[in-house]
Order: sequence, then structure tokens, then C-alpha cells
Amino acid sequence: MKPAYCWLCGRDFRSEWRHAQSGGELVRFRDYKQLPDDAVGHPPGLEWFCREHAAAARVLSHLDSASALVELQRQFGSFPKVIEPSLIHDPSLWVVEVGPQRSRVLAVIQQATGRTATDALVLLRATPFELVRGWPASFQSWRVELESVGARVEVRYDQA
Ligand SMILES: [Zn+2]
Repeated sequence: MKPAYCWLCGRDFRSEWRHAQSGGELVRFRDYKQLPDDAVGHPPGLEWFCREHAAAARVLSHLDSASALVELQRQFGSFPKVIEPSLIHDPSLWVVEVGPQRSRVLAVIQQATGRTATDALVLLRATPFELVRGWPASFQSWRVELESVGARVEVRYDQA
């Protein structure tokens, strides 16, 4: 199976797909052929699209994939080719809004990152900030704790 890059724009949503089964989807075109059970590889006519382009691709699924790509490029323009696959980055937990209980959030920063209070305060003042990076299960408890003190958090899958 090909990795989860949008066939049109090249957007890399492998991390989000792996962790949350979201970020895009596979679309089957008219030239889709199922591979034999014992075959390894990617079936023809089956392509990944990011969430921005999946709906438009689905509308064109009655076409051959090559014709659909031409039509999608007509609609959205062409995108620069992805040069080479990069590493899959782990998702990260971001604090988007600190909320009313700054000292509680400060304490979580210290516990989660091992920073001193002074360093944690620097991070707090730079909201939104990345708290930790890793598999979502590894930061679920921080997420719950932050939300319980009124902070707004989000999981980000893009590496930037
Ligand atoms: Zn796309």
C-alpha cells in the first residue's frame, strides 16, 4: 500500500492516518483492480487524497484515475512534486489557550516537560505552544488534566 500522501497536492498525512485514521481517504476510480490476495503492493486505480481534495476526487471516481487527476488539476491547479518522502513525525499536543487557571497549567508544563518554573513560564507566555510530542496515548493524561483546568488543547499531526 502506498503511504498516505495526497495524490493531487502531495500533502503528507501519514501521521494523522496512522494515529487517528483521519486526514484524508482512499478513492477508488474506474480503473481500480483488486490485487490478488497474495500480492504485495498498491492496487491500480486506488489513490490517497487529503481531506481538502477527497470530496472532489470522489465525485470523479467514475473516471479512470489518470483522467480524474487531469480534471482535479484543472480545478485546483498543479502542485509542486514531492521531492522525497520524509520521516513520519509523531503528533504533538499543543496548548492553544491557557484559560483561567494559569498556575495549574504552569504545573502541568513543569511535570510534562521537566522545565523549571521560570522556563515553564516562558512557554506559557508564548501560547499557543507545543507541550509534548509522541504517541497520543503517551500524552492523553496531560490532555485530560489541561482540559479539566479549562485550558484548550489540540493534537497536531503536521510537523511544523
Ligand atoms: Zn490534497
